Amino acid sequence: MSTPPLRLFFAIPCCPQVACDISNWRARHAIDGKPVAAENLHLTLAFLGSQPRGELAALEALAANLEPAAFTLHLDRLARWKNGLLYLAPSKTPAALTELELGLREQLLATGFSLESRPFKPHLTLARHCPRLPSAPPPTFDWPATEFTLFASENTAKGTRYRALAHWPLRPPTPA
Ligand code: ATP
Ligand code: MG
Repeated sequence: MSTPPLRLFFAIPCCPQVACDISNWRARHAIDGKPVAAENLHLTLAFLGSQPRGELAALEALAANLEPAAFTLHLDRLARWKNGLLYLAPSKTPAALTELELGLREQLLATGFSLESRPFKPHLTLARHCPRLPSAPPPTFDWPATEFTLFASENTAKGTRYRALAHWPLRPPTPA
């Protein structure tokens, strides 16, 4: 019997402290819609969709080729897309994040994976099916990104769970 494919994506998982702060902030404001579980808060770098398990080795090898630099994400925008997705985003995208996303995209395309061509809009989803933008002033969260991860998204009885399959460190800045 063949093994079922995996629903894969690369992302930066939110560190537990910032995830807790975001989750507490969210709970203090009347935010309608379906909240993303605190343990699932993340920033997607590349969505691969359904992939055979046999692709995992190639994905891990190409990710290991990257040498991305660490950065801090300054989440200072609260916004909502018209599809009801409520999110936090940085007003300025750190150059190291742009480089990581571009490097990953380049490697994935070169290895034969298909990616959507929409421009990268870095964001952390707070809730889905949110009917309106909350009137709360935008909060500010400083999120130190130290690793990126290959996740399998799985449906469980408790809702969607992201299973980390492999992760790679982001290189800390070298002292001057
Ligand atoms: P669910 O769909 O079960 O409610 P989810 O959206 O968190 O939960 P997935 O659909 O598996 O789980 O998505 C995993 C990640 O990939 C999320 O960040 C999601 O926004 C992103 N994603 C899903 N589909 C696409 C797509 N077609 N293009 C780009 N990113 C996507
Ligand atoms: Mg989804």
